[in-house]
Amino acid sequence: MLFSELPLANPLQRAIRAVGYETPTPIQEQSIPSLLEGKDLLGIAQTGTGKTAAFALPILQLLLDSGKFRAPKTCRALILLPTRELAIQVEECFKQYAQFTAISSTCIFGGVGDASQKNCLVRGVDVLVATPGRLLDLIGQKAVSLKALEFFVLDEADRMLDMGFIHDIRKVVALLPQKRQNLFFSATMPDDITKLASTILRPNPVRVEVAPQSTPIERIRQELYRIDKRRKGALLKELLQEHTEMKKVLVFSRTKHGADKIVRVLEKAGVKCAAIHGNKSQTRRQEALKNFKDEKIRVLVATDIAARGIDVDDVSHVFNYDLPDVPETFVHRIGRTARAGKDGIAISFCAPDEEQDLRAIEKLTRIRIPEGDKAIFEKLPPPQKETPESEMRNARGRGFPKPARQQKPVQSPEPSQASPKPPRQQPPKTAQPAQHAGPGTKSEQPQNSGHHRHRRNRPGSKARRRMRASGNTPN
Ligand code: AMP
Repeated sequence: MLFSELPLANPLQRAIRAVGYETPTPIQEQSIPSLLEGKDLLGIAQTGTGKTAAFALPILQLLLDSGKFRAPKTCRALILLPTRELAIQVEECFKQYAQFTAISSTCIFGGVGDASQKNCLVRGVDVLVATPGRLLDLIGQKAVSLKALEFFVLDEADRMLDMGFIHDIRKVVALLPQKRQNLFFSATMPDDITKLASTILRPNPVRVEVAPQSTPIERIRQELYRIDKRRKGALLKELLQEHTEMKKVLVFSRTKHGADKIVRVLEKAGVKCAAIHGNKSQTRRQEALKNFKDEKIRVLVATDIAARGIDVDDVSHVFNYDLPDVPETFVHRIGRTARAGKDGIAISFCAPDEEQDLRAIEKLTRIRIPEGDKAIFEKLPPPQKETPESEMRNARGRGFPKPARQQKPVQSPEPSQASPKPPRQQPPKTAQPAQHAGPGTKSEQPQNSGHHRHRRNRPGSKARRRMRASGNTPN
């Protein structure tokens, strides 16, 4: 099937040609005809399948057909999305597809001032793309009302729930007029999502399911490097230096702090890069994203939340600098490459304490990730020994440890605020565990050596007194 065979008006057909689409993707082919008939739709699809055009084109066509006009401070179609990046991208798509029509669109999201967003709503807008919090805020301020709404799209529903938007979604849905056409998209359909869908969609919606999670993964070439945490930066740097074909590289970091650290390492090595995460202003995030899209920087380092829904074409490589706790996140991450039928490469770094995460990922994807070329390790500095402090630093950002990790004896003298509390148990009585441990175990390393002794751990300190009381005085 070709786009030209779909019953879409000339201005839309022109726009489709202008953006270079010829054949509809499966989700577009399956959704557009039903949506044009006014049916509700339940779409199980992830980003990269062409789902934006699958809902945007028929909505634009129906808006054109209806002959109605937008009233002040109202919208006719509402697209609800979990993140600002995603909202901006979807609105950009609407703008592209509607470029030869008089249909207006605007985008509202939090984290920036609301004055210009309110201004855009004064005369009303045909398509409003919004994140839930800011939408409710502006509704509260009477800057916009949903009473004239004709189309409601809830996109990335599973991520919305992951991000705790369920109450906001319910509040928005309660404000929608009864008569409306609903579209509900989610990459996964666990029970809570199915339940939510049933409260929004009319009975018997058209169900379209495309690209189950395993399909794109099979197109992605994967490599695994088992590497201690401290040398991950050096490994990334080496790989980037060795492989000039890594042109548009997305690196995932578990934490914001970690993302900044990666940028510092790469910048020092002369690699053009930037980070996007929740501590960066919206302007800086947009700037970094634009520079990455325009290939002014080679590497974009992102946290999972910041990267949600990032739509950048031709990402050549995705790096999992840290493995995610949630295996599904891994699928979303590497799905940033190999989009729109292209191939991609995903490279994962796995530190010893991430083996559990790796197993969960391999179980979910049913793929055993092959190890990368070990020759690269010869170019790296030798592994450094872990100190209690570095172990604690490494533990930060991982949230609470999984039970298996909790069982490790916690050797640090004081729990850090950022790291989970050690279990309330007597620490091991031996002060020199290396004598009893086999080679390669962590206890081989000097613990609490004079060099690493923290101020709190000096003779006479509170921590020292506590340790003495528990029979674990160093030295
Ligand atoms: P989406 O899943 O909506 O985020 O789309 C992923 C990417 O596919 C975007 O870069 C779109 O511009 C592109 N795309 C969507 N539909 C088509 C199509 N029919 N042909 C070629 N590219 C498309």
